[in-house]
Amino acid sequence: MAVRSEISRALTHALERSEITAWFQPQIDLLSNRVVAVEALCRWNHAEWGLVGPNEFIPVAEEDGMIAEIGRYMATRAMAVMTKWGIDVSVNVSPAQLQDSAFTTWLGQLVERISRPARRLTLEITEGRHIGNVSSVVARLDRLRALGLGIAIDDYGAGQASLTQLKRLHATELKIDRALVIDDSPSAERTMGAAIAIAHEAGVRVVAEGIETPEQLEKVKTMGCDRGQGYLFARPMPQAQMTALLAG
Ligand code: C2E
Ligand code: MG
Ligand code: MG
Ligand code: MG
Repeated sequence: MAVRSEISRALTHALERSEITAWFQPQIDLLSNRVVAVEALCRWNHAEWGLVGPNEFIPVAEEDGMIAEIGRYMATRAMAVMTKWGIDVSVNVSPAQLQDSAFTTWLGQLVERISRPARRLTLEITEGRHIGNVSSVVARLDRLRALGLGIAIDDYGAGQASLTQLKRLHATELKIDRALVIDDSPSAERTMGAAIAIAHEAGVRVVAEGIETPEQLEKVKTMGCDRGQGYLFARPMPQAQMTALLAG
């Protein structure tokens, strides 16, 4: 893999060369076992380096400001499949995108062009700490929510995500991080159980991430998670493959 400065330089051309694409991973309703949603995840197919994952380049894009363009691209792709597939679609947004009123205004205008029942888009937010208590971000998220969008707190149980953010951002979904899903210690199960109870009390949907084994699936089902996502069901895949999977 290339060093940071090379990634940064190559990234400036990546979108115009169509090297960045949206892949999709299904989310399963744990009662019906049906695919009810997908999460859009970006992939960078570089001519020399091959497939580069978002953990390698999203932090660079955030620092260099290229996240704005990538974020608009991903939201556009997410909304395109949302109307095609007629299921819920989630897209990850960086704190920087939420601090950028041009992004949230742009997104709101796009959403308004779609009929209300078809507005099945959820914004996944990680790193609640960086969003902090910024009331302008909360106000923007409230406006998007009023248009019918969902707000998910991503990676709960890893890093900075907290249940305080759940209330503060008026979230509609809580995503339990894989770190908690795979940890079968009593303390991890207590943490998870408490989070699920608080979420459900507030009418918030709970999605378990990173399910790889039948045992993990059984656990998150028993604990009351609403939806599951993970390699046990399917890995993230290109759009054409996802279309085929949904066509059954
Ligand atoms: P995330 O939003 O928490 O996404 C879930 C990550 O877990 C994805 O990694 C997914 O491929 C991976 N995953 C899913 N199921 C399993 C499993 O069963 N086992 C394991 N070990 N992993 C699983 P990915 O695609 O590499 O994305 C990493 C992170 O990059 C994402 O974490 C998200 O925070 C960020 N990201 C991805 N796409 C975007 C984007 O378009 N914009 C922004 N701002 N961030 C993005
Ligand atoms: Mg996510
Ligand atoms: Mg995340
Ligand atoms: Mg996550």
